[in-house]
Amino acid sequence: MDQNSIDALRAQPIAPFGHLIDGKVVSASDGATMDVISPLNGAVLTTVARGTAQDMDAAITSARAAFGDGRWAGQAPAARKKVLHKWADLIEAHALELAVLGVRDNGTEISMAMKAEPGSAAATIRYYAEALDKVYGEIAPTQGDVLGLIHREPVGVVGAIVPWNFPLMIGAWKLGPALAMGNSVVVKPAETASLSLMRMAELALEAGLPPGVLNAVTGEGAVVGEAMGLSMDVDVLVFTGSGGTGRRLLEYAARSNLKRVYLELGGKSPNVVFADAPNLDEAAKVAAAGIFRNAGQVCVAGSRLLVEAAIHDDFVAAVIRATEAMRVGDPLDLQTNIGAVNSEAQLTQNLGFVDTARAEGGEVVTGGTRILQETGGNFMAPTIVTGVTPEATLAQKEVFGPILGVSPFETDDDAVRIANSTVYGLAGAVWTANLSRAHRMVRDIRTGVMHVNTYGGADGTVPLGGVGQSGNGHDKSLHALDKYINLKTAWIKL
Ligand code: NAD
Repeated sequence: MDQNSIDALRAQPIAPFGHLIDGKVVSASDGATMDVISPLNGAVLTTVARGTAQDMDAAITSARAAFGDGRWAGQAPAARKKVLHKWADLIEAHALELAVLGVRDNGTEISMAMKAEPGSAAATIRYYAEALDKVYGEIAPTQGDVLGLIHREPVGVVGAIVPWNFPLMIGAWKLGPALAMGNSVVVKPAETASLSLMRMAELALEAGLPPGVLNAVTGEGAVVGEAMGLSMDVDVLVFTGSGGTGRRLLEYAARSNLKRVYLELGGKSPNVVFADAPNLDEAAKVAAAGIFRNAGQVCVAGSRLLVEAAIHDDFVAAVIRATEAMRVGDPLDLQTNIGAVNSEAQLTQNLGFVDTARAEGGEVVTGGTRILQETGGNFMAPTIVTGVTPEATLAQKEVFGPILGVSPFETDDDAVRIANSTVYGLAGAVWTANLSRAHRMVRDIRTGVMHVNTYGGADGTVPLGGVGQSGNGHDKSLHALDKYINLKTAWIKL
C-alpha cells in the first residue's frame, strides 16, 4: 500500500451501483437512485439504487429459490469451501480498491480501513470456509432400542443488515458463517456506506457463488430494511447497528413470521485505569487510540475513561498529549490517524453532545469543535471532557463519535459500580498490574468483551457480542455459526 496507488484510485470516477439480485445487477423497480455523498469533501461520488419494498421481495424470492433447489446447500462441503476461499482470494487481490472505495464512502482513515476492512473480511471468510466441514451432528445418549440424532441444518434465508462504520468487516462477520452453513443471504448495506460491500458481493459471484445465493439491496433502512424485517420468508435476521433500529426489527419479527433476530448494538464501554497499571504512558496512548480511531465510530470504542483519583490529573494530561499527537484529516492520506465523521448529520449530533456535556458541568479539555471546514468534509477535533458524572448524558448515551468522557473513581467497588451504570454492556478494559484485581474486574464488569492492559484488537477466533442493551447475539468465532443453524432431532425406533 503506497500513497501513489491510493491517490490514483481516489481520482477514478465511480460508476453507479445497482442492486445485485439473482446474479444480476439491476436498477430499483421504479428506477430511483440515491446520491452517495463523500464525507471527505461533500461531493457527490456516484449513485446507488434507492431500493423499494418490491426490490427487497425480489431479492428474498431469489434467495429462497436458490436455497430450495440446493444449488449451494446441496454442494459438497469441499466445493463450498473452495468457492469461499476463492472469494477471500479475490478480496485480497482487490484489497486496495475495496479499501479506497469504502473510505471515499464512509471516511475511515485508510491505515485502519486497509486492515480492518478487506484484510479482516478476507480472514473472516477463510475462517468460516475452513470451519464448514468441521460442523457435525450428534448422537444423543439414549437408552434401549432408540436412536436420537441431532442434525445441524442451514436455516434457509438469512437477512443481514449492516452499519456504515466497517461495512466489509461486519458484513463478512455475517456473510461468512451464513454462507458457510449453506444458507442463502440477502444483505442490506447502510445508506452512507454501500459501495465497498456491493463490490465485495460482486466478487462473491466472480468466485463462483451461484446466482441468488447472495443478493444485495441498497436503499433506505426505513424502506428496504423494513421490508426485510417484515418479510414472511426470511428465517433469520442478523443486524449490527443502533438500539433504536434493533427494537424495530424485533417488532417487525413479532408482526410477521417470528423470525429469529440477532442484534449487535451499541456500547458505552468503560476503560478503567488503576494507578498500578504497568505502563501509564502506554495506557494513555492506547486509551486515546481506543476512542479516537475511525473518529470514534467503533462499537467497542472505550468512550468512558474511568481513572483512579490518585493519578487522574497526570493521566488525563498524558491522554491529552497522545490525542493532540494524532493527526486528523484526509482519510486517504496514509499519515492520517483520525479520518472523517461519516455524515454531516452525525457531526451535528456529535457537536450537540459537546454542548450538553458543557451544560451538565463537564470541562472540554481538548477539541470540541468542527475543524478543516475548508475541505468541505466532516471533520471533528478529538474531544476530551473531564468531570463527567456517571449520570451525565455523556456517560449514559452512546455518541458514536470522537468524544471521550472522563470520570475519577476512588476504590475498586467504585470503579465497578460506575462501569456498570449504563444500560449497555459491550466492551471494557482494565489497566492494572495486580492479577487478582484484573480477574475481579473481568468478572464484575458486565460486558461481552473485557480487555486487560490493552484495548481492542480481539481477532476472529473470539466472539463479539454484548449484554444488556448492547445486543443478544455473537459475531466471530465458531459460536457465530449457531445463529445460522437449526437443530433438528430425529428420534428413531430401532
Ligand atoms: P443504524 O441502526 O442507524 O443503521 C444500521 C442499519 O440499519 C443500516 O443499514 C440502516 O439502513 C438500517 N436501518 C435503519 N432503519 C431501519 C429500519 N427501520 N428497518 C430496518 N433497517 C433499518 O445504525 P448506524 O448508525 O448505521 O450504526 C451505528 C450503530 O451500530 C452504533 O450504535 C454502533 O455502536 C453499532 N455497532 C455495533 C457493533 C457491534 O458489533 N455490537 C458494531 C458496529 C456498530
